[in-house]
Amino acid sequence: FTNPETPGYVGFANLPNQVHRKSVKKGFEFTLMVAGESGLGKSTLVNSLFLTDLYPERHIPPAADKITQTVKIDASTVEIEERGVKLRLTVVDTPGYGDAINCSDCYKPIIQYIDDQFERYLHDESGLNRRHIVDNRVHSCFYFISSQGHGLKPLDIEFMKALHNKVNIVPVLSKADSLTLPEVKRLKRRILEEIQANEIQIYQLPDADEDEDEEFKEQTRCLKESIPFAVVGSTQMIEVKGKKVRGRLYPWGVVEVENPDHCDFLKLRTMLITHMQDLQEVTHDLHYENFRARRLQSKDGEPAPAMDSGGNTRALKEKEAELKRMQQMVQQMQAQINAQTKSSPPGKVMSHNL
Ligand code: GDP
Repeated sequence: FTNPETPGYVGFANLPNQVHRKSVKKGFEFTLMVAGESGLGKSTLVNSLFLTDLYPERHIPPAADKITQTVKIDASTVEIEERGVKLRLTVVDTPGYGDAINCSDCYKPIIQYIDDQFERYLHDESGLNRRHIVDNRVHSCFYFISSQGHGLKPLDIEFMKALHNKVNIVPVLSKADSLTLPEVKRLKRRILEEIQANEIQIYQLPDADEDEDEEFKEQTRCLKESIPFAVVGSTQMIEVKGKKVRGRLYPWGVVEVENPDHCDFLKLRTMLITHMQDLQEVTHDLHYENFRARRLQSKDGEPAPAMDSGGNTRALKEKEAELKRMQQMVQQMQAQINAQTKSSPPGKVMSHNL
C-alpha cells in the first residue's frame, strides 16, 4: 500500500468513521462493477484503485477472436486489509463489452447479472439464516466513457438508461491523459448535458450535512464538480524527482495517476471511499426496493415470500398460533421452576442448575 501519510490519502482505514464498530470487525462487503467498451482502461484503473493486481492471469483475446466475442462477466474478489479494517471487495468486470459488431443486446447479460444478485439477496433475506447474508449486490457501476469521442455514443445512452434504475452509475471519462485541460472541461460539460437531456439518473453525491466541518463540505463540493471523473490508470511505478509514483511515461514526460493536477483519479477514489456506505444504502433503499417491488408485482414470477396473499396470511396465522402455544409452554415451565425453587433449599437448586 501507499504510504498513508501521502497528502490527500484516503484509505479504507478511514471507513470506521462511517459505520458502527461491529461492521469494522466483520469487515465491509462492497461490489463494484466496471462497464463500458473494451480497451477503455477499466482493468488498469481498477488495479490502480486498489493497488492489487486483480487479474494476474487475464487472457487478452487476439483481434480475430474479438469480433464474435459476447459479453463475459468476470467477478474477482479480493480481501484488502488496511490498519485492521477489512474490505471484501468484489470487482465485476465486463471485459468484452463493445467488441462484438452487433451490440444492441450486449448489455443484457450485465443487467441480468445485477438482477441475479438482487434475486439471491431476496431469497436469502426470506430464508432462515438472515443474519449471515452475503451481500453480492452491485453497489456501484463505474461507467467508462471514451475520451476519443465527442460525448456519449448511442450505445452509452442506451446502456446507462437500462442500468440507472438498478445500480448507482458513476460516469468516468477514461484515458484523460489524451486530452488537454480545456478539452477535458469541454467534454465533461458535453457529457453532463447529454446525461441530462437523456434523463439518465446517475449517482448523486449527497450534500454534506450542515454540521460537517468546512473541509469535508469543500471536498464534497469539489467531488460533485468533477463528475464525470476524468481518470488515468497505470500499473507501472515510475521514479519522479526521487519518488516512486504510479504513472505513465511518455517521451515528453510522466503523467502521474495520483497527482490531482494531472487527473481526477484521487477524487474518484475519495468519492468511492467516503461514500461507500451511502452507495450501499442507496443500493438497498432504492435499487433493491425497486427490484423487490417489481418482483412482487410480476405475475409470472414465483410467489413472493412477503406477499400478503390468502395462502401466506393463513401460513402466518398458523405460525402465530404455534408461537402462542410455545409461549404458554415456556410460561408453564417457568412456573414449575419457580415452584421448585421455593420448595427446595437454595444450594440444591444451584447445583441442579449447574
Ligand atoms: P479494458 O479492456 O477496459 O479493461 O482496458 P485495459 O485496462 O485492458 O486497457 C487497455 C489499454 O489501454 C492497455 O494498453 C492500457 O495500458 C491502456 N490504458 C489503460 N489506462 C490508460 C490511461 O489512462 N491512459 C492511456 N493513455 N492508456 C491507458
